Amino acid sequence: MVVSPIGIEDVIPLHLADCTFPASHPLVGQRGTVHGFAVRHPAGVFVFDTGIGTGNAWVDANFRPKVRAIDDALREVGLRADDVTAVANSHLHFDHAGQNARFGNVPIYVQRIERAAARADGYTISEWIEFAGARYEPIDGDAEPVAGIQLLATPGHTRGHQSAVIATTDGPVVLAGQAVYSVAEWRGEADPADQSPKSAASAKRLRGLGARRVFFGHDASRWDGA
Ligand SMILES: [Zn+2]
Repeated sequence: MVVSPIGIEDVIPLHLADCTFPASHPLVGQRGTVHGFAVRHPAGVFVFDTGIGTGNAWVDANFRPKVRAIDDALREVGLRADDVTAVANSHLHFDHAGQNARFGNVPIYVQRIERAAARADGYTISEWIEFAGARYEPIDGDAEPVAGIQLLATPGHTRGHQSAVIATTDGPVVLAGQAVYSVAEWRGEADPADQSPKSAASAKRLRGLGARRVFFGHDASRWDGA
């Protein structure tokens, strides 16, 4: 079988929400943007992070999110949610996994320790994570759930955080999630929002991949090479 290769433009950012970060968040006071990503892959559409869900009073009061349905975000870039064949979450905080329930019976790849952590009170919005038809596939460390799409353990922001690396004909495209918060952080022009040694090690690991392009969960800008 000849598999058509993935090009760099097949890795597509999805603008899934805007919100305001409260005092408890490292990005306090800023109006933040929330991004997921779609990969047009010969095996189907792969989605990395699903944004914020709807109908939770605590989230609405504290983050005042303007949420976009992932169906609409995908349609806007010419894709259909029904064509999604695999999903992964960088981590299970409510702003990265909030619309997972749109993908019942689709495998959702998450680090095993992240799923366990997400069961603790206050970690996330549990009804957005645990839903009828949820098909979580646990990962321990690194994995390649879809040919050419690797998930790398990048602990720091959470212990079970992971990033994605997409092999394209133009070079690797990295979806950092929240392992690195922004282009400025990636370039070393801003102090890392997460200062732990684990975060630093994860950022170093991502920088060592020879990425051609890097996207971030909470930055509308991307990094396109030195
Ligand atoms: Zn988070």
